[in-house]
Amino acid sequence: MENAISTEVLVVGAGPVGLTLAVALGQAGIRCTLVERKDAPQFLPKMERCNARTMEIFRRMGIAERVRAAGLRADVPMDVYIIEAMNRAPLLKHAYPSVSVARRAIDACTDGSLPLEPYQLISQYTLEPLLKSIAESLPSVCVKYGHEFLSFHDDGSAVTAQVKQGGGVETIKAKYLVGCDGGGSPVRQQLGIRLEGESFTEFRQALYRCDELFDRIPIGPGPGRGRHYHVADEAFTFLIMQDSTRHWTLHARVERDEDMRAQFEKTIGVPVKYEMLHVGRWRQNLLLADRYQSGRVFLAGDAVHLVIPTGGLGMNSGVGDAIDLAWKLAGTLRGWGGPRLLAAYEAERRKVGEFVLAASTYASQGRRKWRSLWRNLDELVRVAEVEQRKSNEMIGAELAYSYAGSPLVCNEPGGPAPEFREYRPTTWPGARLPHVWLAGHVPIQDRIGQGFSLLNFAGRANDLSGLGGAFAGYGAPFEILDLKEETARELYGFDLILLRPDMHVAWRGNRAPQNANEIAAIATGHV
Ligand SMILES: Cc1cc2nc3c(=O)[nH]c(=O)nc-3n(C[C@H](O)[C@H](O)[C@H](O)COP(=O)(O)OP(=O)(O)OC[C@H]3O[C@@H](n4cnc5c(N)ncnc54)[C@H](O)[C@@H]3O)c2cc1C
Repeated sequence: MENAISTEVLVVGAGPVGLTLAVALGQAGIRCTLVERKDAPQFLPKMERCNARTMEIFRRMGIAERVRAAGLRADVPMDVYIIEAMNRAPLLKHAYPSVSVARRAIDACTDGSLPLEPYQLISQYTLEPLLKSIAESLPSVCVKYGHEFLSFHDDGSAVTAQVKQGGGVETIKAKYLVGCDGGGSPVRQQLGIRLEGESFTEFRQALYRCDELFDRIPIGPGPGRGRHYHVADEAFTFLIMQDSTRHWTLHARVERDEDMRAQFEKTIGVPVKYEMLHVGRWRQNLLLADRYQSGRVFLAGDAVHLVIPTGGLGMNSGVGDAIDLAWKLAGTLRGWGGPRLLAAYEAERRKVGEFVLAASTYASQGRRKWRSLWRNLDELVRVAEVEQRKSNEMIGAELAYSYAGSPLVCNEPGGPAPEFREYRPTTWPGARLPHVWLAGHVPIQDRIGQGFSLLNFAGRANDLSGLGGAFAGYGAPFEILDLKEETARELYGFDLILLRPDMHVAWRGNRAPQNANEIAAIATGHV
């Protein structure tokens, strides 16, 4: 007997990427089941920084303030130190703003060069339970922890998955399956998709609770509160403040788990009361999958790209995968998406994966360069002054990635190549719409709906009914936003800008297009 379809999308893996995807699908009213083999989110250290683009995305999903409330308080700076030990004057300090200071700069910015939202420091073990509770509050989302994905069969019209729960095996049938199941991805393995690239050194990482350290940071003269403390030593020791300011992680190349105690004590340099809560191992990887899709099965996040955490791009690019896939799945399932809509996921996101891998390679080579000089501290400081900045100053890697060249974009010849060191605001088709303030200090992002949007700066000069009719012909959500703002018009350079649901530019022009049907067909994946 034919199994009933249990869900529209089956998501495997409740890391930050699977959880973000489940929330985005749930908000679009798509029926989605999320299976996770762990019984509950774990209190284990991993990422700790949502970058500016992720926070813009979270704002659009209506959850940014909850993420901030759960994360590090807004007044703590993100300063990065290179030290011998915390009780000695630092060798080098690079100052980076707190969220409050970054927000003031954003508030004053009128040239589109800054994101709408600053970064937010939030530990993965805080973010996952929060996203889980948001996913569980959505009526069309079913979250199942303690469920291990075993295998699937894609028959061309649906995917049937076997999932182990307790002593039994459950069958879940879905229209689509998405593997957000991390670096070891069983879904990817069943598809026979390979990760290509390089694997490097294995590190030990420990998590400590130390209530007094943040208030008593003994570093040199002057205030020493920061986020990252790199120790100039052979073991690549690296201390990271977590979101509560009471928890700290330390990475080092040491022989035994127990060595992580001595490494922590040596780094702090003064006696403190602390507890070592966990020691684990992790490997630095620069790996990218050769494909992101096969049939009705898609892959996202660490399942398809593994980068070195320098630059903090791993989870953040996975969140980008999730929201990209979410609107394409929703469009296809609701019938307005054409056959090329979902197929464009791989074309668009694998290119971003390559970009992020290049950025991570660039940052980690810089890190290795200064670290190799640990025997000569003067030289190390001279080199680190330039090379360490590469890890923390990659605004382009966060904001400049583009879908130019995608089959879903009305491409213009040429165009700027995205650059991970800097961000130059542009409305080149494929680019993320630069942030701009409208009258009353309202960000343009907050005015833009969840479907396709046409920004119209030319009043009634154009008859836009053709575009409206073309999108309506596919049943695709479309709205026109009439704007009179000169600053935005000047920055964007065009009277008409067509945005996709993810706020990337699909088309731009100064007159109502003659080929409205073609534009709508491209943007919705029908061409
Ligand atoms: C030390 C360190 C620091 C980092 N810092 C940052 C940072 O600051 N910023 C950043 O962006 N990234 C950072 N990263 C990277 C980031 O942690 C990962 O990119 C992120 O966790 C990827 O999320 P994911 O959801 O794709 O995969 P994961 O977090 O690996 O989640 C995959 C989930 O799938 C589940 N799963 C696996 N197999 C199955 C199965 N068969 N059935 C059901 N469930 C399954 C797993 O249990 C897991 O919960 C860091 C990584 C490390 C190691």
